[in-house]
Amino acid sequence: MNYLNSSEFAKQLDAADPLGKFRQQFYIPRHNGKEVVYLTGNSLGLQPRATQDAILNELEDWANFGVEGHFHARNPWMPYHEQFAKPVSILVGAKTSEVVVMNQLTVNLHLLMVSFYRPTPSRFKIICEAKAFPSDQYALESQVCFHGLNPDQTIIEVGPREGEHTIRQEDLLSAIDKHRSELALVLIGGVNYYTGQVFDMQAITKAGQAAGALVGFDLAHAAGNINLHLHDWNVDFACWCSYKYLNSGPGSVAGAYIHERHHTDPAIPRFAGWWGHDKTSRFNMEKGFIPIPTAESWQISNAPILSMAAHKASLSVFMEAGFDALVAKSKKLTGYLEFILDDIQNRLLTQSGIKDKRLEIITPRDPAQRGCQISLLAHGYGKALYHKLLENGVITDWREPNVIRCAPVPLYNSFEDIQRFGQILEDAMK
Ligand SMILES: *Cc1c(COP(=O)(O)O)cnc(C)c1O
Repeated sequence: MNYLNSSEFAKQLDAADPLGKFRQQFYIPRHNGKEVVYLTGNSLGLQPRATQDAILNELEDWANFGVEGHFHARNPWMPYHEQFAKPVSILVGAKTSEVVVMNQLTVNLHLLMVSFYRPTPSRFKIICEAKAFPSDQYALESQVCFHGLNPDQTIIEVGPREGEHTIRQEDLLSAIDKHRSELALVLIGGVNYYTGQVFDMQAITKAGQAAGALVGFDLAHAAGNINLHLHDWNVDFACWCSYKYLNSGPGSVAGAYIHERHHTDPAIPRFAGWWGHDKTSRFNMEKGFIPIPTAESWQISNAPILSMAAHKASLSVFMEAGFDALVAKSKKLTGYLEFILDDIQNRLLTQSGIKDKRLEIITPRDPAQRGCQISLLAHGYGKALYHKLLENGVITDWREPNVIRCAPVPLYNSFEDIQRFGQILEDAMK
């Protein structure tokens, strides 16, 4: 596609965008009376307009029914989580029996590691990506310590090569091969939060399993962003949060996937609670845990209905838009952002007398290796650049020392947003 860096061109793309109307379904934050350019949907997705009513419905039903709402609410609370199996299975590419919405992300990561990280004296190592999201690093370390092992001898981090920003697939695969006899688990962020790099989850799963390990993914930055086929890729387990691309509100309820082959395997232990117990006998309140024969058996506590109401409102927007259409727009919008950034870099070099490279895109250039995120290194600039953007109504994400992460989200960002961002950034850099 041939892009132009002009506001008219961006407006034309918006006018031709079949998903353009979905922006109206969201609240866009304002700055000095004008809608901001919001590029942090990878951190906290915007609020769908339908969310308030969805939560109010549950508050009303609670007021009207009290405990009877478990059965008589408009959306009865007892089976409330069951309505997520369908839409969530579509988003992550799983069978409906393989997904469950519960808890928060890091909590789910721990619960899944209870089941799927079971080190033995000969097989105990974990391969993960270097500079994983800190919460994942802490979860891994504490799980390793919990088993009485030393993290330094147990966790193998694979990072970018010297002078590079992203991790080469071949390096991940060769680490798996190198440690194959001692490898218990491969656990990677499906999309790296910092660079936006998408990993080849199918190939990693195949290699990890061929080495005799289990393979799981943290999909915090992947769910609602890229196409996933967890079941077909044969992934053992995965988890994600719902407040980033899934727009379900701060700290909202998270999700988990467990491949069906593990559901009734008696060799797989899990931490149990009453919500994972066989539904027909749950209220007999008797001794002896009988797991539901699906991913639901990993549930422990009863469902947080208020945050689930927000999740419900958000997922219906996804289903209405259609995920394939969203991914198609995502590629166009992210491609436009890449074009605008390259255009700025060129102009800085040719017109402003700036001789060195100022904007370096560290996200892969290959659209197959990224979702809707571009991370840039702003060489020679400090956090003042981020504040300048903020003062001009652009919300991005700053990571020390000088990385700006931008997520053009296909549900609510427009091509005009991207063009406006480019202009403000260029002015701020001069
Ligand atoms: C956002 C994010 C988290 C946050 O964890 P919570 O338990 O939701 O607070 C963890 N891991 C990754 C990879 C993330 O991107």
